[in-house]
Amino acid sequence: MIYFDNAATTPTLKEALEAFLKANAEHFGNPSSTHAFGHEADRYLEDARKSILKDLGLSSTHSLLFNSGATEGNNLAIKGVAFHYAARGKRIITSAVEHPSVLKVVDELRPFGFDIVVLPVNGEGKVEPETLKNAMTKETILVSIMAVNNEVGAVNDVAALSEVAKAYPKAFLHIDATQAIGKAKIPYEKADLISFSAHKFGGLKGCGALLYRKAIVFSPVNMGGEQEFGFRGGTVNMPSCVAEAVALHSALGNFDKHQATVKAISWQIRCALEKNPEITVNSPQDAIPYVLNFSLLKKKASVVLEALSEEGIYVSSVSACSSKVEPVSYVLQAMGKSKEVSANSIRLSFGPQNTLEEAAVFLKTLTEILERTHDR
Ligand code: PMP
Repeated sequence: MIYFDNAATTPTLKEALEAFLKANAEHFGNPSSTHAFGHEADRYLEDARKSILKDLGLSSTHSLLFNSGATEGNNLAIKGVAFHYAARGKRIITSAVEHPSVLKVVDELRPFGFDIVVLPVNGEGKVEPETLKNAMTKETILVSIMAVNNEVGAVNDVAALSEVAKAYPKAFLHIDATQAIGKAKIPYEKADLISFSAHKFGGLKGCGALLYRKAIVFSPVNMGGEQEFGFRGGTVNMPSCVAEAVALHSALGNFDKHQATVKAISWQIRCALEKNPEITVNSPQDAIPYVLNFSLLKKKASVVLEALSEEGIYVSSVSACSSKVEPVSYVLQAMGKSKEVSANSIRLSFGPQNTLEEAAVFLKTLTEILERTHDR
């Protein structure tokens, strides 16, 4: 098998899984329990929290709450801030290419009187800082913009966007860093809120974190228990949080090595695709090398995808979260691509476990499939 769908999820890192198994077997107490066994579990949880904040260089400025991943983190970052800070203003700004866990949440706020602004992106899938500047008002309480786009790998200039937002002291900047962690150098310290999922960098599924500048408070979305500072009720999945910290440490520690491996693979495939007149590459030149999106100009992407799958090569069309319901990529459409290009895209997403040999097999198989597939 050739797995080129690492943006959907990654294989779990061996050390992370081992850390999970150990914590789960030996320290299975509830971190909220008041006996010594619970305190022990809580120590593991707090060590994981400290480790993640330290590795991201945010120990002195940010707090971290563990959750089930970026979907939940985005929900809390947006709803939790919107409802808590509504008295300051009701304008929330986001972009047209965000993940549905941002776009659907901001939509849900409209009936509550929030003024939702969805910014366009440029042809490379990035938000121009000037576009943000023109949309900012004194009523703005939140700007939510992704660091790296999940479909095309476009990297936003978080430093420049934060400069714009900083001029409005009532506005927090939230970045969805799900596709950025361990894959792009992002100035995380400039963001007020940062969400991500562990399974995108070798951790386990159903576990993530929301980091937030220390003074920020939320109206909780998950109500019930007082866990995670009262902002996220529910027994904390401590063993997965421990694995998350291990996976993050490894992803950041191996950043350059992984980047070099993935760059070589991505480059080899990109160069070949760019020479093919039946293909147009959608990822901008300076996208993260982990994501390579292209469209088929003559064939149906769904047919080619299935043929690749039959050969044991796993890639995706539009992001895994929406691929069952939405065949046309709203991300590509927002980048100004035609309906045909937007409906026939394929996303390859790589990981450090992939090899140049796999890239060569992929290219050979794709050529064969394109030769035998009818035009759409
Ligand atoms: N944001 C982005 C940019 C993503 O790529 C994803 C996962 N595809 C999410 C949020 C949601 O992550 P999860 O499904 O782990 O909650």
